[in-house]
Amino acid sequence: MLIHSEQEMLDFGASFAKSIAKSSNIIELVGDVGAGKTTFVRGLATGLGIATPVTSPSFTISKSYALPSGKGSLVHYDFYRLSDPGLMSEDLAENLANPDNIVVIEWGESVSNLLPSNHVVILINKTNTESRMIKLLNNRNIAFRDRPRLTRSGLSEARPVTTGERERVEKGNIRLFLDTSKPETILMLNDKKYTHTFGHDLAEQLLAWIHDRLTENHATWQDITEIGFMSGPGSYTGLRIGASIVNTLSHELHIPLKDHHDQTHPIIIPDYGHPAHITPPRK
Ligand code: ADP
Ligand code: MG
Repeated sequence: MLIHSEQEMLDFGASFAKSIAKSSNIIELVGDVGAGKTTFVRGLATGLGIATPVTSPSFTISKSYALPSGKGSLVHYDFYRLSDPGLMSEDLAENLANPDNIVVIEWGESVSNLLPSNHVVILINKTNTESRMIKLLNNRNIAFRDRPRLTRSGLSEARPVTTGERERVEKGNIRLFLDTSKPETILMLNDKKYTHTFGHDLAEQLLAWIHDRLTENHATWQDITEIGFMSGPGSYTGLRIGASIVNTLSHELHIPLKDHHDQTHPIIIPDYGHPAHITPPRK
């Protein structure tokens, strides 16, 4: 389903309130930062007759709004950047156990083991500034492949897509190759080549940049089946940052990792070609 504006998202949320009795009272919202998850909850709250304005629970992790019926609450969680929900998972388990509650969760990866398998998953994908593609799933296993995992850091706007890039790479079978050994970073998604010169923001931007190139191809991290890496020699900082990213990705995604000689490695140790040139501190 395509949503064209913020107002339409609010309306969708409000209309969803009516269908909750028929589906599940536990809703997981999956989508990048700014996708409109909280906006959906604002609409949902309106539809449930809650007068209190809904705000993002990012800092408090959870916010609770009493339902007008006097029984149960709308409980809104946001586990953004929380790899270990700690005590919050007890709070969540308690709220999930009350059938009168409506529980909505943003960034629920870290608590997915607590969610019943029949909970509703709503995927929200930003397609441009105003429009959002929405997919409804009520099976966690289907949802799994579509989850934007590992995307929580500095998501940047995708740059305009050029014509040559518009054809899709084959989904579910992507070989990613990365070369950060030179000032110009090269990324290959199968045969499609992308380049970018990062400078000092390589560490901060690289993961988000790769994510955006995948998104342009309607692909996710889970569509990568193999990773290749130019392991050196070359830029010390570039290799170090690139290697840490490919090592983490291959480990997280359980996929093979190869160097540019097509040799498989459990992790890549960059070949810097020379001892590290460490600049002495200035004072
Ligand atoms: P999230 O909780 O997913 O991080 P928010 O709902 O807090 O996202 O923010 C979404 C932002 O996008 C808001 O600033 C909202 O005004 C804007 N926006 C623009 N178009 C839409 C749309 N169609 N649906 C939802 N939000 C939209
Ligand atoms: Mg939010």
